Amino acid sequence: MFVKAENLSYVYGSGRLSFRALNNINLQIDEGEFYGIIGHTGSGKSTFIQHINGLIKVEKNYGKLTVGEFDLTDKKCDFKKLRSKVGMVFQYPEYQLFAETVFDDIAFGLKNFCPEMKEEERLVAVKEAMESVGLNYEKYKDVSPFDLSGGQKRRVAIAGVIVTKPEVLILDEPVAGLDPEGKRDFTALLHTLKSKFVKTIIIVSHDMDFVAENCTKVAVFSHGEIIAEGTPKQVFAKEEVQNSGLGLPLTSFVTDQLKEAGIDIDCDLTTSDFIEKVAETLQERGDRA
Ligand code: ADP
Ligand code: MG
Repeated sequence: MFVKAENLSYVYGSGRLSFRALNNINLQIDEGEFYGIIGHTGSGKSTFIQHINGLIKVEKNYGKLTVGEFDLTDKKCDFKKLRSKVGMVFQYPEYQLFAETVFDDIAFGLKNFCPEMKEEERLVAVKEAMESVGLNYEKYKDVSPFDLSGGQKRRVAIAGVIVTKPEVLILDEPVAGLDPEGKRDFTALLHTLKSKFVKTIIIVSHDMDFVAENCTKVAVFSHGEIIAEGTPKQVFAKEEVQNSGLGLPLTSFVTDQLKEAGIDIDCDLTTSDFIEKVAETLQERGDRA
């Protein structure tokens, strides 16, 4: 399922207190991308992603939004079905947990979206969702989510979203507040989910290294508009982005410094490609010397 926004705008409030949070956004996110959304606080990232699963509705004359076969601007759009295909994990999802057991928390979305599902089927689905986020079913199903660690709570929250088998998984700042090890585990989990469960990941992040390392494409939001879009390599090379105060991935910073010193490393900004290209350059220089 692709996501396509055409001249999408959004205004909070009305009259003198109104605020234009999105201004003529044009963006296509293709199926299969690991898509990063970056930008300063208040630039419209959350407002944009909440449109994709219909939490915020497109107002009349404020553009068009299509997600696969769903036309979100159509009054007849089946938003319930859309939400089972487009899962949303909010910032600090651990605060959204509420049920008495891990099982009930994860099963909640299923009961809501697939009320006709039989008890046994529900059990299988919850088990599968738990194991895909790395939580042992027998060990954790009857535990209170409030007794888990921060990282485990986040996994429960994600299991509660992927249990309906969405095609698109949207995450708002999922690595915020995690320590380096937690971040590494969580990043690995996202890649596992992407290879086994969901087709597309859309992720809001403040972490430029995370974006360069993991995202296939990036869009940069600024004051409700998109100022750059493309691969991390294309985006971080743009002057507007370099001057935006968002910061740069370490690999981008280092390649820029090396370039000034006359060493051109043409890498995709992932650490592994950076190291490979540096090694090649050193080898070539050694051969020439
Ligand atoms: P981001 O996720 O990039 O930090 P948001 O999409 O949350 O940005 O917000 C974009 C702008 O809209 C901000 O200026 C914010 O203050 C404003 N805004 C967000 N939510 C509301 C709301 N419920 N009512 C009024 N203004 C809002
Ligand atoms: Mg936000």
